[in-house]
Amino acid sequence: MTQEQWEQISDDLRKTIGEPHHKTWIAPLRFDGVSGSVARFHVPTQFMGTWIERNYADAIRRGLVAAGADVTRVVFAVHKDSAAPDDPGADSRPDTRPPAAARATTHNESGFQSAPLDGRFNFDNFVVGKPNALAHAAARRVAEAGPVTFNPLFLYGGVGLGKTHLMHAIAWELQGSQPELRVLYLSAEQFMYRFVQALRDKQIMDFKSLFRSVDVLMVDDVQFIAGKEGTQEEFFHTFNALVDQNRQIVISADRAPGEIKDLEDRIRSRLQCGLVVDLHPTDYELRLGILQQKAEQYADSYGPQTILPGVLEFLAHRITTNVRVLEGALTRLFAFASLVGREISMDLVNECLSDILRSSEQRVTVEEILRKVAEHYNVRLSDIVGPKRVRTIARPRQVAMYLAKELTSRSLPEIGRRFGGRDHTTIMHGVRKIEDLQTSDPQMREDLDLLRRLLQG
Ligand code: ADP
Ligand code: MG
Repeated sequence: MTQEQWEQISDDLRKTIGEPHHKTWIAPLRFDGVSGSVARFHVPTQFMGTWIERNYADAIRRGLVAAGADVTRVVFAVHKDSAAPDDPGADSRPDTRPPAAARATTHNESGFQSAPLDGRFNFDNFVVGKPNALAHAAARRVAEAGPVTFNPLFLYGGVGLGKTHLMHAIAWELQGSQPELRVLYLSAEQFMYRFVQALRDKQIMDFKSLFRSVDVLMVDDVQFIAGKEGTQEEFFHTFNALVDQNRQIVISADRAPGEIKDLEDRIRSRLQCGLVVDLHPTDYELRLGILQQKAEQYADSYGPQTILPGVLEFLAHRITTNVRVLEGALTRLFAFASLVGREISMDLVNECLSDILRSSEQRVTVEEILRKVAEHYNVRLSDIVGPKRVRTIARPRQVAMYLAKELTSRSLPEIGRRFGGRDHTTIMHGVRKIEDLQTSDPQMREDLDLLRRLLQG
């Protein structure tokens, strides 16, 4: 295996993973030859080594094998010259520097270290649709790192709707555009772990000064600290110190601040005083968009597979739980199709995904929705489907229409029939009305969240 051959492989990788990732992760690698069945590379930092190992080792190994090298393992090691600050090439390729957090790890004794970021979780890979448009726009704004306009940004939503993805995307964007910024991303669990460790090692002052020195702090899944008093206390102080210095904070949770139990009131109100945006459950269009995008990406790893018309549509229609499950289904199809050399057809779907499809079968029915809505607003079900037009009945009726549209796969005319034979335009009108109210009326948002949970939980 020669240097030229490696460059060819590296070039091919650029095509599959894209220029930005290539520039960040592959270009800085220095090929150090193959001995036995092990290929060795030099990396500038340990952080990068771990990262590349986790994300690209396989692709690199496949490239080497395809080029004729008998390689079973790829090893990335830090070479002391690779990251030398006076490296003459360093200025001409500033984009190849590892993320700020990684560099800080090697230069800073105080242990400033972000949790690893997933390379796929960037803005390019995030499909925007109606349910997540607001959250996406807010994340974009934060990633521009202009003047801090809302602090904190609080993102919340159910499992697998893209909270972590958006937070990583912010971190990537900031590290790419302003590598000097100290961006710290970690889960609330890691925050607690570090706090406890600092207490144990009597290094609480270091802990404090570390967390107070970041430019952007992102804490994922903050609901985790509910009920953990010491951690909450410390989090509260960190939070205040950073807000006072006008540093951006981004928080995520699986529910709205007001709904996190066992959270101190002062923290709750602090969390609410920035911008609170939620990621709504995905709709059909968004799911289809995500599937189409992933299908393109998977073709890079599994080779192009023929997907028969209607398959992605079927999946988007049937797998409504969360995006992670959707991705899992597609991965399985691609893996299977490429292994057995078949096209991705409905037959293959039924063979490979029966378990996933079965578990997504228990769908919410319009009748259940009517029942729960009637209960929630304390009105009679017969009134909801009946002709009364007073507001106390009409509003719950519209809520039920909205939920029927969102949570079932019934068409508008079908929904109309179940609402006492109403016209589909009436249903559409009701759905729109609630969509509008949802943005202007927090109470409505809460009602909907609660009902959704009751119906889906
Ligand atoms: P959460 O943190 O809200 O539980 P994640 O951010 O981990 O969810 O998302 C779960 C998976 O779904 C990830 O692989 C993520 O890339 C993917 N995903 C979620 N939303 C989108 C989207 N809008 N576009 C592309 N991928 C998405
Ligand atoms: Mg998450």
